[in-house]
Order: sequence, then structure tokens, then C-alpha cells
Amino acid sequence: MKIRAAVLDRMGAETPYAVSKPLRIATAELDGPGRGEILVRIAAAGLCHSDLSVINGDRPRPMPMALGHESAGVVETVGEDVPDLVPGDHVVMVFMPSCGHCLPCAEGRPALCEPGAAANGAGTLLSGARRLHCDGVELNHHLGVSGFAEYAVVSRRSMVKIDRDLPLEEAALFGCAVLTGVGAVVNTAGLRPGQTAAVIGLGGVGLASVLGALASGARQVVAIDLSDDKLGLARQIGATDTVNARDPDAAEQVRGLTGGGVDFAFEMAGASGRWSSPTRSPGAAAPP
Ligand SMILES: [Zn+2]
Ligand SMILES: [Zn+2]
Repeated sequence: MKIRAAVLDRMGAETPYAVSKPLRIATAELDGPGRGEILVRIAAAGLCHSDLSVINGDRPRPMPMALGHESAGVVETVGEDVPDLVPGDHVVMVFMPSCGHCLPCAEGRPALCEPGAAANGAGTLLSGARRLHCDGVELNHHLGVSGFAEYAVVSRRSMVKIDRDLPLEEAALFGCAVLTGVGAVVNTAGLRPGQTAAVIGLGGVGLASVLGALASGARQVVAIDLSDDKLGLARQIGATDTVNARDPDAAEQVRGLTGGGVDFAFEMAGASGRWSSPTRSPGAAAPP
């Protein structure tokens, strides 16, 4: 079938992207789903830093690639060997497929799936196939999803079925920002009720960490960012305290607020390299 998709032909475009326009909206040919795959009508997709990291070349990927991975949609058709989904089911895509059989999967750590990581690096679905073509050229899949498109063919092992009454534009966030931010708190840190947390960097992932800490029963959650707007947003969703990282004594403020320090601090800015190179990211100025 013919679909429209946002395609990146080469990495390293000049900024600002409003001028260089690194993505083109292409009419692509999408094959039907193979064994264990599903054709999904994409209903919502978010722009994640990992998309930007492919565009600027920080995270090199095979080109050309149909970008997008944080997305949710509705099942259109299912391939062979998909016994548990039917057309009309709502699904959220997951940026790391989990094969269910390799050692990390068997150990209950599907985020480290080895065949999944290999497929993501190669720009294929978990099966090793590419289902997208444009002008006779195969397009690579971004993280097994390629969600900046009208439709996508995705492995059953790259998606989770959700209730149909969840708004899909909110559900999409669970495909990357929420699973990353909440997962760090719940699965990696194992934060327990009554403990304290600080979250540095309040983008989608950081705000999800604030929510994850609150849902885990943290008695105090200190939200930290350079932007007062984001600090206000963090207070709205329940952060107990906020600190602006521009303040020279920001770390001291956190210690003062928490009686000496927090049980867990989550670094969710991922911008330390950028602070020394403000020309590449004018929005993230160096703290004093
Ligand atoms: Zn992402
Ligand atoms: Zn696996």
C-alpha cells in the first residue's frame, strides 16, 4: 500500500532545521505484515530526542530511514502467528523489540534483548525484514517502528495492547518517555515508599520520572531544570520541591531541602556534552 512517511536521507543537517528541513514527507510503499507482524494505523507519535540524535548523527543509523518510534495506533491487519490481536485493537509501540528467548529476555530484562538490539542497529524489524520502499530503494525502520507515518508494519514483539478507551495521543508517550522515565525509578532504582528522589532534567522522560517516583510512594521529589516553566509544570504534577539548576548553589539547595540528600537522583537531561557547545543547542545554555 502507498503511505506517507517522514524520511531522513542523510545525517548531520545544518541547524536550524526549520531552514535545512532534514526530513522529507515521502510517498512510500509499505508491504503487508509478515509472520508475527502487524499492520498498524498510526494515530499519534511524539518527537523524541532519539529521533533528533539520528538526524544530527550523534546516534548513527543506516540511511535512508523512516523516523519515529514513540507512537500508538490501531491494528489494521495481522500477519500469520499473531493469535492475540485482532483488527481494531489499540496498541502502543515499544522502541526495543523483545524476542522472549535470548538470555536477557529470559532473565526478565527485555530492554536488553540481543536480537532486538541487533535489528534496531541494522534498521530492520525483529524478523530482519524491511517492509518500506521508496522509489525502488529500501527504507530502514527506526527502532522497529517508524512511527512518523500514516501506517507502519511492526513486529508483535515491538508493541503492547492497551485498553481502547485510553486517548491514543497520551498512550503514545508510554512507548518511550514513560517507559524510560518510570522504568528508571521503578525497575532500575527500585524506589520504595517513603524514600526521596531528585530528578534532573524535566523533558518527557524527566517528568515521567517525577510521576514514577510519586506513584512509587516517594515522600519527597525534588525537580531540577534550567527552565522555570518546566519547574512550574513539575509542581503541577506533584513535585514537592523545585530547584533551578542555574543557581550556583543548586546542589546545596537540594541537600538543604532533603536533610542532607536524596535516596536516588535521576539524571534525565543527558545534555552534559551540549553545555560545552552552546552553538549546537542554543536552548541549553551552560549553567554558571
Ligand atoms: Zn524515544
Ligand atoms: Zn530477546
